[in-house]
Amino acid sequence: MAGKFDNKCTLHNDYDYRFICSDCRVPVCDYCIVSKNHHRSHSIDFITSENCNQIFQEFKNNNFQFLIKCLDGDKELLNKSNEIFNELEEEHIHNVNTISNEFKQLHTILDSVEKDTIKHLVSHYDENKETHSKISKKLENNSKNAHLITNKYKDTINNFNIQQIFNNDQNIKGNNHQHLELLKHCHQSQMLVKEKNTENKNIDLLNEFNKVTIENSMDFVKNSIKDTFKIKLSSATYKDPKRVKLGGGEYFIYKDGCVIPNGTLYLALGPSIKNLTIGSIPATIQRIALLNGFNLQLTEGLLPNSVQWLHIGAIRKPLIKKSIPQSVSFLFLLDGFNQEISEIPPNVTQIYLGDTSFKIPQTLIKSVRVYKTPSCKQDLNGFNEVLWNSNGYSQIEM
Ligand SMILES: [Zn+2]
Ligand SMILES: [Zn+2]
Repeated sequence: MAGKFDNKCTLHNDYDYRFICSDCRVPVCDYCIVSKNHHRSHSIDFITSENCNQIFQEFKNNNFQFLIKCLDGDKELLNKSNEIFNELEEEHIHNVNTISNEFKQLHTILDSVEKDTIKHLVSHYDENKETHSKISKKLENNSKNAHLITNKYKDTINNFNIQQIFNNDQNIKGNNHQHLELLKHCHQSQMLVKEKNTENKNIDLLNEFNKVTIENSMDFVKNSIKDTFKIKLSSATYKDPKRVKLGGGEYFIYKDGCVIPNGTLYLALGPSIKNLTIGSIPATIQRIALLNGFNLQLTEGLLPNSVQWLHIGAIRKPLIKKSIPQSVSFLFLLDGFNQEISEIPPNVTQIYLGDTSFKIPQTLIKSVRVYKTPSCKQDLNGFNEVLWNSNGYSQIEM
């Protein structure tokens, strides 16, 4: 029968606490004592008021106080875990939608390519069909005429007296035309024979047929389609790096509310930042790096109008209109940057591309030069592009 108090071993729920391990100063059950992983070969004592009290005092003075702090810490951890999971969930839905939409579009493209290809094929088939019908008709016609003439003349050709027919035709009122029919048959025969004797003409006729073959590259498409979406795993938690160097310049890592040393020109904003107001970043900063995990929605004026170089990593919010200062000329979209940019300011003349899915709008084709790093997988058709070896350009120490 279960008692009023819980006397079961916290590690082995089916066993009662029976002794105390004096080495570890904890209550133990039979299983604890015997099991290799627990207290085997420790010194085990009976439970007495003395060792009971000893353990209680330790609990009261140390662990109980700490336990309260632990609960708060756990609460914070749970909040953070919820926050991260919510973002992961949001991203998951976004990813699923992206894949569904892309495949929907692909289905439409496939459908239209299939229809167009078949239509194209049918038009060639129709041409051949028409050629076939033309040849058949012509041969049928020829053969009809040839039969007509041969049947008509095969028994009588030696008995024809042209003079007599001619005179006869002239004499009869209403004009008899037997001589004209005769001439027609002569003419037809001449044409038929001429046609048969010119070998090439027959071949020319058949040359109007076009053999249609298809070159099938579907295997290539089928294989490449498997790689259209690569699923990548990376850490879901971000922390500010210890040190950021880009292009040889050391960046000051901004923290919420910190004082930016005078004369600072290069500033890095990391994932720890929760608050920025207009003026937090002084209008003397020339270069800014938005680091992986930067999770603040930038709006107009938060980044000052003195920034000319903007490096953007895998940040977690889109760049809405006017969030990029108008002063920016050099825009670096680093590995993992996958957000939208609503508007690229007109002063931007150079865009550096890492491994990003961001597509530069075609409207910028004349105004920007694109520097492509080895990690950039994009096809930049039409853009004025330069291959850029970015090795050693960025050194971020975590
Ligand atoms: Zn136990
Ligand atoms: Zn022990």
